[in-house]
This record gives sequence, C-alpha cells and structure tokens, in this order.
Amino acid sequence: MNTITIVGGGTSGWMTAVLLNQAYNKFGQTVKVRLIESPDIDIVGVGEATVPAIKDFLQAVGIDEMDFMKHTNATIKTGILFKNWCAPSKDGQVHTYMHPFDQEKAEKRLDVATSWLLSERRKPYDQSVSIAHALAQKNLTPKVMNSKSFQSIVPYSYHLDARLFGQYLRDYACAKGVERIEAHVSSVNSSGNIIDSLDTTKGTFKSDYFIDCTGFRSLLISQVDDDSNWHSYRDSLFCDRAVTVQTPHEAGYSSKSYTESYALNAGWAWKIDLQNRTGNGYVYSSRYIDSKTAENEFRNHLNLPDDIQFNHIEMKVGRRKQQWVGNCVSVGLSSGFIEPLESTGLHLIYLAARFFVLHNNFSGNSQSNIDNFNLTMCKTYDELKDFIVLHYVLSDRKDTEFWRDVHKTLDFCPELSKRLELWKSKVCEFFDVSDSTSHMFSDTSYRYILYGMNYFPELKIPTIDGEFEDIFQYLDERKKQACNAVLSHSDFINKIQGKSNFVSVKL
Ligand SMILES: Cc1cc2nc3c(=O)[nH]c(=O)nc-3n(C[C@H](O)[C@H](O)[C@H](O)COP(=O)(O)OP(=O)(O)OC[C@H]3O[C@@H](n4cnc5c(N)ncnc54)[C@H](O)[C@@H]3O)c2cc1C
Repeated sequence: MNTITIVGGGTSGWMTAVLLNQAYNKFGQTVKVRLIESPDIDIVGVGEATVPAIKDFLQAVGIDEMDFMKHTNATIKTGILFKNWCAPSKDGQVHTYMHPFDQEKAEKRLDVATSWLLSERRKPYDQSVSIAHALAQKNLTPKVMNSKSFQSIVPYSYHLDARLFGQYLRDYACAKGVERIEAHVSSVNSSGNIIDSLDTTKGTFKSDYFIDCTGFRSLLISQVDDDSNWHSYRDSLFCDRAVTVQTPHEAGYSSKSYTESYALNAGWAWKIDLQNRTGNGYVYSSRYIDSKTAENEFRNHLNLPDDIQFNHIEMKVGRRKQQWVGNCVSVGLSSGFIEPLESTGLHLIYLAARFFVLHNNFSGNSQSNIDNFNLTMCKTYDELKDFIVLHYVLSDRKDTEFWRDVHKTLDFCPELSKRLELWKSKVCEFFDVSDSTSHMFSDTSYRYILYGMNYFPELKIPTIDGEFEDIFQYLDERKKQACNAVLSHSDFINKIQGKSNFVSVKL
C-alpha cells in the first residue's frame, strides 16, 4: 500500500489529510495517510475568514454544515466591508464599500454594470447590484427557514475559529482512519530531490510522498530545493507583519455576517466576528512602522486598555516557484503566502490538496504532471496577488508615507497595469479576466473593488435620462423580498447552538 505522510497539524495539514483520505479511502483503504505534528510548535492560529469555495471542500469530504458550524463557533460571511481605503469625503465621512459574493443581472440590457455606469448612479455600485450587500446591512443571512445544508439565496462563506477548525478536522480525519503521530521531526533524510524518511522523536518514518504543512518553516520542501525556488512579492505587497488580538463579546452583542477591513496608517485591520468572540488583526508593513508603533495604533483603534497582550506574527510574503519537488509537495504557508485581505489562504490549501490528487498517479509521477501542478499553483498565486494589489493602488489616500508609496507596487504587476489601462475606457467584464487560472475572483469581484474605489471608465454610449430606472427599481424590490424572506444572523446562530427547534435539511 502506498503511504502519504503529512507533516504539520495546522489547518493545512488537517484539511489535506481529510481530503486525501476521502479521495483514496472512501471505498476501503487503498493508501495509508499519516499525519505527524509536533507537540512543541504551535500552529499559526489565524485564518478565520473564508471564501465561498470552502463549501466545496466541506461537501467534498462529507462534513455536515450545522455540525461544523456548531463545533467551530462559525458565523456566516456574505462579503467584506472595506472602510477608510480612500480619503474621507469633504464632510469627513469615512469611505466605505463592500465586496459581496453575489451580483444581480440586468434583464434585457447590456449588463448590470454598464447599466449602472450609464445611469444616474443614485446609489453606490455595491448597494445597487447586490442582494448580499442588502442582507449584510441588516445583519441577515442568505438562508431561509428551510434552506438545505450549504444552500442559500446568494453565495456565502464562513468565519470560523481556526484552532477549533483544526481540531474538528483532526477528529474527523482520525475517525476515518488517518494515522496521527504526535512527534517532532528532527531531520529529513533525502537524496537528490527525493525524501526517503523522517527522523522524529517517535522513530523514523518512510513514505512514498511527503506533504509539507509545516507553515512558514517549510521544513521538508526546503530540504529538496534551494533559495532560488522562492519568488518574493516584496515589491508588490508591502505588508509583512501582523499583530492580532481576540476580544470577547459583550452581552447582547450581535455577530456581524461580514468581515470588516479598516485601513490604518501602514496597512489594514480585520475584524471577524465568531459566535462567541471577535478576531482582530492589523496587517502592516515593517518598512513603514515598527511593531510597537503598530501595536499602539491598533490598541487605540480597538480602544483596548494597556494591559491587553497582543500576538505578533512575521509573514513571508511570496510563493515557491516549484511547490511540488520530487516526492515532496508543499501545502499551506510552506508553499507561499499572500496577505489575508481577501481570505485566500484556506482556499489555496484546498486547491493544492485537490490538484495533488488530480495529478498524482503513484507510479513515479511524470515530470509533465509535476510541472503542470506547479504552473497552475504559481499562476493562481500570482493572480490572487494582483487582485490584492488592486485594493491598494486605487487609493487616493496621501496621509501617511505608506499610502503615498503604495501605488508604486503597480510597477511590479504588469498584467494588472494593462487591465487598469483598459478599464479606464470600458466596463470590466468577464472576457477581460477569462484567461484567469484560478477563477477565484472573477470580473464580478474586480468590479466591486474598481467601482467601490471610484475607478470608473469613461463610456461613450448614448443614453437618455431615466433609461435604467426600471432595472434599479426592480433590483430594489428583489432586495426587499430577500430581506423579508431570510433568517437574521442571530436567529441562525441560535439555531446552530440548538437554542431553537430549527433542523437543517441534509442534501
Ligand atoms: C496574519 C494572518 C492572517 C490570516 N488570515 C487568513 C484568513 O482570514 N483566511 C484564510 O483563509 N487564511 C488566512 N491566513 C492563512 C492561514 O492562517 C493559513 O493558510 C493556515 O492557517 C494554514 O497554516 P499552516 O497549517 O500551513 O501552518 P501552521 O498553522 O503554522 O502549522 C504548522 C504545523 O507544522 C508543525 N510543525 C512545524 N515544525 C515541525 C516539526 N519539526 N515537526 C513536526 N511538526 C512540525 C507545527 O506543529 C504545526 O502543527 C492568515 C495567515 C496569517 C499569517
């Protein structure tokens, strides 16, 4: 029987273990899946916001939605609310826009975005075309009373407790036959680019494949490659540190059904509401402020007293050029990292584990399979990086050195530069991004950022006053209907916690 050994018990290790086990062993054991995790090294313990594709992972491995939400203190996420990413308005209002996960269609018109651009723009773009935005404003979920598991009227994802998610997946994996070994790996024995075995505090382990889920340490893959295998995003993504803190909910607090991203002096702060607490983090650039200044700024932003302890994290921003080398595949932080502005980390783990299954044939993988895996992962990383850069370079903030400099990152993103040039004179549409590999963020997402950040094209299409009134009246009506039909976020959380008699219907 072939053996796959995963090293690392963070989210990437356990997501990979569950997925590989499901792929290979669902009809009886054909592959031994083993996971080794160190009792001495903690997991990074962040990674609490997700994108809708997380539901594909949960469904693919047969996890029940309500059970998962209950055990990970999860809440619903309908999108991200961005605040302070542009300069305040003349009357001092904080700039605000949302990247929701849905977009409505315009019947019998070119498309809803062009219609909005040509219209009188009575309301901002996100408010005009998205039902999820309307739900978020009222703190509603996209689920109606009898929504089946994973079903909803518009796409959604979750906020979850990273530590509890790891434990939940660990229990799930072990119950299904994954072997868990609590041991510290002390050396990696390899010849050329092939890892032969690992020496650990509980003995030596041989394996056909080794999956490196050791986080930023990259313990395994760094043994079979060298420094030339690193592609840094240093010039295009300035943020390389985070300072984090968890805050408990006060009695009566109602968890928000969206992530908040508030731009600060040298980066931005996330706010992620779980059922029982809020996760907060300030992602900043160490080139512009030091850790003490960041911590103080963040403490003031959150209005927290001096005695509260913060956690500091260094982030290695970039990706490996080859994430699969010989018989070693890096997954999670060991393969690369893009700052968490659009919550892409967990999705990249799912992609890598899934692509490994699709490319692996256990009989001495052909180099073309390995090359294709590497190419796909690298292109995905690069596209996501460009999408993150977009959020910064459209800002008109000039109040700190960071914000004055950040537009320079565009010089290192030629694809994005070309697209932005194009979108000066035409609407951003599917065909402009259809050569994308990842498809994680399509034209729909790009438009929310472009128009939310006031980057509008000059269109030369004739129009008459009031031509588009009916579309936006119709969409307003649909939003009203949706808001009347769905469950509130607090009702839904009560149901997850068994405080009411709601039963989710299994698909
Ligand atoms: C600041 C920040 C915010 C983030 N926010 C998000 C987000 O909102 N959404 C999202 O999707 N992603 C986010 N991410 C990314 C996400 O946190 C990671 O993708 C995810 O946690 C996976 O981490 P990991 O499992 O690769 O590494 P880790 O959690 O670091 O786990 C490493 C594991 O390797 C083990 N290990 C290390 N050395 C050894 C050894 N010698 N022997 C045995 N075991 C060893 C450790 O014990 C540990 O179990 C964020 C990341 C950061 C840094």
